[in-house]
Amino acid sequence: MTRRLAEAAIAAAALVVATACVRDFAADEPLGVCEVHHVPLTTLIVPLEYGLEPPIGNAFATAFKLEFPHARPYVNGGCVVNHWVTRARVRACLQCNKAHAQWVKEHPRYDQQYDVRPGAAGEARAKP
Ligand SMILES: [Zn+2]
Repeated sequence: MTRRLAEAAIAAAALVVATACVRDFAADEPLGVCEVHHVPLTTLIVPLEYGLEPPIGNAFATAFKLEFPHARPYVNGGCVVNHWVTRARVRACLQCNKAHAQWVKEHPRYDQQYDVRPGAAGEARAKP
């Protein structure tokens, strides 16, 4: 095997490994324009996270719908963990991702509103 052929084989193998770790959601998602930011959606590689997500609450749901409907900072891959697949290819709006990050920064406890453990924010709000 010549050196050039060996290098090509190594590059091809690396490409197979690199692409095998990415779950492709983008192929099933339409290209389009963000109705909030009026910019074309783009294809991104984002973290693929596993596990049950907590309820998101009305404040986040409303903000998501009105302020960053195409934010995709990560994707939930479900409850069955595949340690080989840790990233996802998605369509997203970069401006939505920025707006989402800013909203989360400004609302650091939003994901705790349904936490009903003693002393948690949810229980504190439940009592007048
Ligand atoms: Zn957007």
